[in-house]
Amino acid sequence: MNRADFRTGLRSWLDANDLSAGPDHSLDAQVEQLARVRRALFDADWMRYGWPAEVGGLGGPAVLRAILGEEVATRDLAEPGIYSMIEVLAPTMISYASPQLAAEMVPRLLSGREQWCQGFSEPGSGSDLASLSTKAEQRGDHWVITGQKVWTSLAQYAARCVLLTRTGIGHDGITAFFVDMDSPGITVRPLRTMHGIDEFAEVYFDEVVVPADRMLGRPGDGWRIAMDLLPHERSTCFWHRIAYLYRRFDQLLEQTAHDDRAGHDDAELGAVHLALHTIRCRSLATQERLAAGGKLGPETSVDKVLLATAEQHLFDTVRDLLPGVIELADSPWRAEYLYSRAATIYGGTAEIQRNIIARRLLDLGKE
Ligand SMILES: Cc1cc2nc3c(=O)[nH]c(=O)nc-3n(C[C@H](O)[C@H](O)[C@H](O)COP(=O)(O)OP(=O)(O)OC[C@H]3O[C@@H](n4cnc5c(N)ncnc54)[C@H](O)[C@@H]3O)c2cc1C
Repeated sequence: MNRADFRTGLRSWLDANDLSAGPDHSLDAQVEQLARVRRALFDADWMRYGWPAEVGGLGGPAVLRAILGEEVATRDLAEPGIYSMIEVLAPTMISYASPQLAAEMVPRLLSGREQWCQGFSEPGSGSDLASLSTKAEQRGDHWVITGQKVWTSLAQYAARCVLLTRTGIGHDGITAFFVDMDSPGITVRPLRTMHGIDEFAEVYFDEVVVPADRMLGRPGDGWRIAMDLLPHERSTCFWHRIAYLYRRFDQLLEQTAHDDRAGHDDAELGAVHLALHTIRCRSLATQERLAAGGKLGPETSVDKVLLATAEQHLFDTVRDLLPGVIELADSPWRAEYLYSRAATIYGGTAEIQRNIIARRLLDLGKE
């Protein structure tokens, strides 16, 4: 199906099938709503376009997934952060899990029957991911995993985890596994964020037994898998997030136009619009490269810097033009403003992105 037909068909299907979220903004409600939206879109086939037939997809370019996410975000059907988890984890499974495992598991994620999580960061290993120490030891045809992860988004809802472990020394001593979260020895402790939602968790692994066929790639492939996965955090799912930011920008314009107490600063609003437009243009080029079969790499760090900058600029302007809405009111703006602070942390901090741009794109050498 071509893009225009896909978008037109999808829009009329969404007009005819009301998937609107309810008034409850708790994380439980958001996760439930996400599962409902995914299930309905999968059953009606929209969620299957852009994914290969081997994992239950209907083929076509990944850009169809970007269009789907854009429509979902524009209609506020699902929170874009948790919606986009598929875009990060499913491509990794397709590239590195055995074909049988990918065929069995990926449809569960696409259809909303399961939520998965990504176990990379540890208390001592965030930006310096290669220093991770969660250990995996081979015992016969099993591996036994012991250690701790942290900031694992949605771990308390996840049925599976794409997990990085240490099996040897250095970058070549990192190995990835696809772990069932109900395995004996796993403890999940949710952490409260400053916007009042238990979005992520500490996850403890105490002698967790994982079958050898749950390894992703081969022993020592973990670093390569992480380097392939991270650009996916900055591609299709950014398109969804940009659509969500445009929607919030429109709401800001509406509120400033109708609320007598609101400030008016056309130059500032223009600057936010320019920042959003800039990242949209940049991300469009990334979507086109992906659609043409290109591989994503360090250049997606530019997308990440532009997106985080635009997002924080937008919510800073909300704070400046809607007096008290962040500081005094318990409004959705407040939660979104606070969450926008994390945009320069998750998926690699702003400083790390700039290091990547300096070293790998501009060839400026080490610090
Ligand atoms: C909302 C949210 C969701 C997340 N979800 C997940 C998840 O699902 N799974 C997961 O594995 N992780 C997740 N993370 C963790 C995220 O990947 C890490 O927070 C991030 O990589 C930074 O690591 P850190 O927190 O350990 O900070 P640190 O690495 O300790 O960095 C602290 C500060 O030092 C700076 N810094 C560090 N090294 C350098 C350097 N070499 N040069 C310049 N500055 C440097 C950093 O930029 C930062 O400002 C999530 C984080 C957030 C905020």
